Amino acid sequence: MKIGIIGTGYVGLVHGAVLSSYGFAVTCMDVDAEKIGRLSEGRSPLYEPGLDELLTGGIDAGTLSFTTSAEEAIQSSDVIFIAVGTPSREDGSADLSYVREATRQIGLYANGYKVVVCKSTMPVGTCRSIAGELNRSLEARHASFRIDVASNPEFLRQGKAVSDSLFPLRVVIGTESDEAKRMLQTIYEGHIRRKVPFLYTNPETAEMIKYASNAFLAVKISFVNELALLSEKVGANIEDIAFGMGLDDRISPHFLQAGPGYGGSCFPKDTQALVDVSRKHGEELYIVRAAIAANEKQKARMVAKISGALSPGGMLHGKTIAVWGLSFKPETDDIRNAPSYDIIDGLLAKGAAVNAYCPQGMKQAKRLWTDINGGINYCESEADSARNADAIVIVTEWEQFRACGWERIAASMRGGFLFDLRNMFAEQAGVRRLFDYYAVGSNEPA
Ligand code: NAD
Repeated sequence: MKIGIIGTGYVGLVHGAVLSSYGFAVTCMDVDAEKIGRLSEGRSPLYEPGLDELLTGGIDAGTLSFTTSAEEAIQSSDVIFIAVGTPSREDGSADLSYVREATRQIGLYANGYKVVVCKSTMPVGTCRSIAGELNRSLEARHASFRIDVASNPEFLRQGKAVSDSLFPLRVVIGTESDEAKRMLQTIYEGHIRRKVPFLYTNPETAEMIKYASNAFLAVKISFVNELALLSEKVGANIEDIAFGMGLDDRISPHFLQAGPGYGGSCFPKDTQALVDVSRKHGEELYIVRAAIAANEKQKARMVAKISGALSPGGMLHGKTIAVWGLSFKPETDDIRNAPSYDIIDGLLAKGAAVNAYCPQGMKQAKRLWTDINGGINYCESEADSARNADAIVIVTEWEQFRACGWERIAASMRGGFLFDLRNMFAEQAGVRRLFDYYAVGSNEPA
């Protein structure tokens, strides 16, 4: 069975590389010629642990190839995964123009029976509308074959994308076609053998499972973040609260870490798209809406916390702040909708100078944050950013921050504030005692 992937980003590239490692012939297609050029030379355009090895392995074995030609990718494949972006429009709805274009090309170039698999996160109803559009294209071409469609949403986490793809917690397949189901079962044979739970359902349910999962996680984060704000005021400790809650297996300890608010390319857009779809169907999702609003509040409260501590009036003219961690989470270079953006923007608006450092996110920030880049001084290391600074703000919990030479860093600073927005050092008196230490969700002294 030959596999085509349309859209070679975080999802498409990782999925394609993993499937090629199972021995399938995989053609990854993207409209971004620079990306495809790099990939053809075995160089990854994005950072994801374990991906480089898979890429080299697939290219060397001859199972993984890259192209900018939709015609080539479609015609050479039996199963085509659509993995293009579905970003937010201004009004919060999902922008399906990339999905529509990929569908148009499949309808135009398909040269025999194909299974089209919707891997992108698509609002409920999209998969069925893709099937309708493809049927109309084939009819217009008087084609003698059909195309079947399935929804197979992706649940990988950036930073762990390769291992999540190799060892998923579940596989959801939404289709009414037995042939599509059979072909997907062949592709995921290894998961079936390892007894990964498979859920077979209709496309609408599969699409909703993806949105419901992301929205639920966003709700969990916003819930704990709001409690963190309250905890600071009442003398409670959110880490202990979360631990105490998580001991109840109906709640689970996961996604109860207080922080600066969620970000990334999925939670913000998917919660908004779900709210948008619900409105179009005459339903209000009050809980999801509240999670979105609480998340915006959280980011603003982080700026207020920093500025309030550094200056009685809250203005930061003459202050230099080192911001560590730009990517929306550790082990990724992705800065899309990262809380670091809003926090830096807020600090700049209050007159601060910002020294930024991130192990992987700076390249993308320099390229994409054109509106605030004028105010950001990008630095080579933690130490470089902290020199003569008044404060350090940890926005993303990169593991390397734990052993960055804290004594030396504290000694090189002009001021002595550490705002640990991920509570990385909440339990580490050795680091806390070097600073005026501020965690999220507790005010306990070092
Ligand atoms: P991405 O932006 O990294 O990649 C999308 C790619 O599609 C880009 O390289 C773009 O050039 C390409 N593209 C756009 N139009 C195209 C076309 N007509 N033909 C070929 N290529 C085209 O996006 P991503 O993060 O990989 O996300 C893809 C989808 O998967 C989204 O719907 C997202 O919500 C979903 N998803 C993402 C994650 C994640 O962690 N990133 C996890 C689960 C699901």
